[in-house]
Amino acid sequence: MNACKVCKRLADDEATACPHCGGATTQYWSGYLGVLDAKESKIANKVSIKEDGQYALKVR
Ligand SMILES: [Zn+2]
Repeated sequence: MNACKVCKRLADDEATACPHCGGATTQYWSGYLGVLDAKESKIANKVSIKEDGQYALKVR
């Protein structure tokens, strides 16, 4: 999977642009974070994630 450099959401391998914000994606990322309840999740809050979804913790 590729990760968006802007919002850190994960996208398909073939995706060169983020389907959520249109930002550039990269294959160089680490740390998977699945957010099911963004409002209640302390981790999501810590990394400023406000929407449910699949994210990368670190994006290069
Ligand atoms: Zn994005």
